[in-house]
Amino acid sequence: MYTPVPALITKEEIEERILKIGKQITADYAGQSYLRVIGALRGSFVFMADLIRAIEMPVKVDFMEISSYGKAMVSSGNIKILKDLTDDPHGENVIIAEDIVDTGLTLQSMIDLLKSRGVLSLEVAALLVKPNNVAQHNKLKYPVKYKAFEISDEFVVGVGLDYKGFMRNLPYIAQVTDANQLKLFDEA
Ligand code: 5GP
Repeated sequence: MYTPVPALITKEEIEERILKIGKQITADYAGQSYLRVIGALRGSFVFMADLIRAIEMPVKVDFMEISSYGKAMVSSGNIKILKDLTDDPHGENVIIAEDIVDTGLTLQSMIDLLKSRGVLSLEVAALLVKPNNVAQHNKLKYPVKYKAFEISDEFVVGVGLDYKGFMRNLPYIAQVTDANQLKLFDEA
């Protein structure tokens, strides 16, 4: 059983914000035949499921899982593709769906990769952004156009975000400060 953890951002706040972003995307891409939303695995799948259902135009999805070689790394080109796209994004209007932008290193790697594959346009939708960390690390060279929430540097879980693989199914964003709350997952 979960020990209840207090919400930093509630389920209702998240739903409301994603609906707004969906409307904005729908307006921004009016006149385009379809949109490709590419989810950054694994954390983005919950946000992405809500986001695509808030977009009122034809949407295709794909997924990519990449890992950057540690956060201390200097070059953003040094990445490992754990799961590549299934479809060729060449010539497509693409939106990357990200769960959280922390240093921005993972996102920038994905942007570089997609640009090298000849996408027609590229934007980013992120559930959470940690602006202090992004600024401090100076890795992200691309704007996050569709940003649901900005948070400070705390470690958060829920809505796809995990602690040791768990808590992705928590329907709200929580900051876990009590070590006892995490004990269950440490022992699993
Ligand atoms: P970045 O490359 O932006 O530094 O890191 C992005 C990745 O780090 C996210 O996709 C996520 O997997 C992980 N991450 C960063 N901050 C958090 C956080 O507060 N909570 C969780 N669960 N994961 C985080």
